[in-house]
Amino acid sequence: MTAPESIAEHRKEDGPPLLDVSMHLHTPASPAVGTVVGSERCTRAKSHAFVRHISIDVSGTSIAGVIRPGQSFGIIPPGTDEQGRPHKLRLYSIASPTRGEDGAGNVIATTVKRTIDEHWESHRLFLGVASNYLCDLQIGDKVSLTGPNGKRFVLPKDPSSHDFTFFATGTGIAPFRGMIIDLLESGARSKVSLVMGVPNANDLLYHDDLTNLAARHPNFTYIPTLSREHQPDGSPPAYVQQRLSTHRQILEPGLCSDRGLIYICGLAGMELGIFQQLARILPPQHLDAYLKIDPEARSCIDTWERRMIHKQVSPTRRIFTEVY
Ligand code: NAP
Repeated sequence: MTAPESIAEHRKEDGPPLLDVSMHLHTPASPAVGTVVGSERCTRAKSHAFVRHISIDVSGTSIAGVIRPGQSFGIIPPGTDEQGRPHKLRLYSIASPTRGEDGAGNVIATTVKRTIDEHWESHRLFLGVASNYLCDLQIGDKVSLTGPNGKRFVLPKDPSSHDFTFFATGTGIAPFRGMIIDLLESGARSKVSLVMGVPNANDLLYHDDLTNLAARHPNFTYIPTLSREHQPDGSPPAYVQQRLSTHRQILEPGLCSDRGLIYICGLAGMELGIFQQLARILPPQHLDAYLKIDPEARSCIDTWERRMIHKQVSPTRRIFTEVY
């Protein structure tokens, strides 16, 4: 089924002007060589996942000072795959604010979860090549980088004209860490809300930093959301999209104005869930600013499927998504 004309036209509408960004300053043929200067666990010790905040000094390279939150950089793990071919480049989201980890843009960071799995048929242990390469790196190790990559999942040029609602699951928090620090340090009075979803409390990434930021900035609301255990206030396990109902009073002012922007990053499944929940709770005049919905689809929100996105259910340019 093709998208109705009105939906296709809407996709072409301009969103807010976005930051101008630099792209592809280093390619696989001329990579930047950085030095690992930090590697810390960013979950609590009892988490079943291994997620590290890895800091890389890129001073003297073209990436230094220019890479923006929402962009990514490439890593080519050394060595070859089982067929003897060089490993492919993998992209990792920058987790740092524009000022970098060091205040001068010379140290950038990313958030890496070790991929540890079992092969379906052979039931042999499978270790993700790039994630384990990065997490194994020691202080002082050299690493080759490409990029920056990406120009669509960045902040608007004028953040003070907008309010921001961020939805992250797991390591999808990476770009939002940098964006939120940029927004709060810019002095813009924007309302900034982050709904962060993980399985258990021990899996919350950057939890203490985000809690401290929320304590210091009254315009920032941090809503951690646990999917496999009760919330600290005793309420039941939830997915991030359910916060649109449970925290409606907090989130609605940022969403129900012509300033609102929504950013979504993490697991692919969250995108549909958030769209459905927006369609259920937002008044029509506000919903239209975020989603163009085929009239037939409006009457069957509960049965929407992922394949309807960009067809019968199409986000406007006030929604930014990076989901895998
Ligand atoms: P994780 O720690 O396993 O957390 C994912 C959370 O999302 C869990 O609480 C999970 O709940 C929940 N969830 C599952 N299905 C959902 C749905 N349909 N709607 C809402 N929430 C749902 O996450 P992770 O392993 O770090 O994975 C994060 C994902 O983000 C990866 O796919 C990664 O590739 C992606 N990512 C993207 C970027 C980017 O685009 N730039 C950057 C970093 C990461 P249950 O497990 O309890 O069902």
